Amino acid sequence: MKAALLNDSNHFVVCQTNKPVPQEKEVLIKVKAASICDSDIKQLKQARSRPASPIIGHEFAGIVADIGSQVSQVKIGDRVAGIPFLPCGSCADCQADNQHWCEHSRKIGTHQNGCFAEYVVLPEENVIGLGDKISFEEAALLEPLAKAAHGVKLLEVQAGDTVAVFGLNTFGLMNIQWLRQTGAKRIIGLDTDGNNLWEAKVHGVTNTINLLRESIDKRIAQLTNGQGVDIALECTGSSLAEEQCLLITKKGGTIGYYGMAPSNMMLRQQAFENIFRREYTIKGLWNTYSAPFPGEEWTASLALIEQKKLAPQQFISHRFSLEDIQQAFDLAMDENISNQRVIVVPKG
Ligand SMILES: [Zn+2]
Ligand SMILES: [Zn+2]
Repeated sequence: MKAALLNDSNHFVVCQTNKPVPQEKEVLIKVKAASICDSDIKQLKQARSRPASPIIGHEFAGIVADIGSQVSQVKIGDRVAGIPFLPCGSCADCQADNQHWCEHSRKIGTHQNGCFAEYVVLPEENVIGLGDKISFEEAALLEPLAKAAHGVKLLEVQAGDTVAVFGLNTFGLMNIQWLRQTGAKRIIGLDTDGNNLWEAKVHGVTNTINLLRESIDKRIAQLTNGQGVDIALECTGSSLAEEQCLLITKKGGTIGYYGMAPSNMMLRQQAFENIFRREYTIKGLWNTYSAPFPGEEWTASLALIEQKKLAPQQFISHRFSLEDIQQAFDLAMDENISNQRVIVVPKG
């Protein structure tokens, strides 16, 4: 099969490699669309996170081309999306049905070969069947939408809530699409980039705040009658935004963190004091799964795409063949298309 192999100088070489053979409980999937995720770009940029597998990529959909002898729920010819996370199944977390906390997990595209290839193998439980109403391209974005679903689920958004979303990158916008399904009354998008703020309006925020040009305190006070927001959601990994969440949330409110903390992360006293004086609930939003694996994050996202309530198509700007994957990554790394996803489509 054809596959894109990452070489030592972090460039792709497209060449022929052996087609993987599914083991007893595995399925072989012919990749029809694969999406370039920010974490793929990070793998290219940061030598220290260099993957063990030469074939990267973990967001994809395709057609089942072969099945192992003990596969019972999936048939050859099924249209499926891949679930890239492989929990170990035997640690205390996995045994307690908390697979998303598994510390011995593997992932395709990192620990074993991923989807920037004509074929990829996964265990049977790591595929989700697609109806006819969803395209392979849309289904390739199921994983990040399911991640947004995981966060929104843990935040327990109530009808009528005001939610502030920091960071209007693709993932922030996916959270906004999900938040629109919760009955939140007001969704405030906060960013420093004018294009991102404009983009967020297209995706349905009710208000925007430009963090470089406007006073966040004044604007939040105006929009919430001086109370603060019910929920603040941080999608950037910037320490400033991580702290601001603690300053603009109302008493008894909830704060959700997706972003990693930078190494020099510090909180000012006021922000820390608010945690106890205002009795905040703080939620870490980790991973994409819940019990039973892979969790309702996946089934609910799929259903909402089928009902056209989530619109992954809005994020897809470019398509490249597998042969042109280097060009696809060069474009995906371009800051000017930071709100868009690039899709790689193997031919045939
Ligand atoms: Zn991803
Ligand atoms: Zn485990």
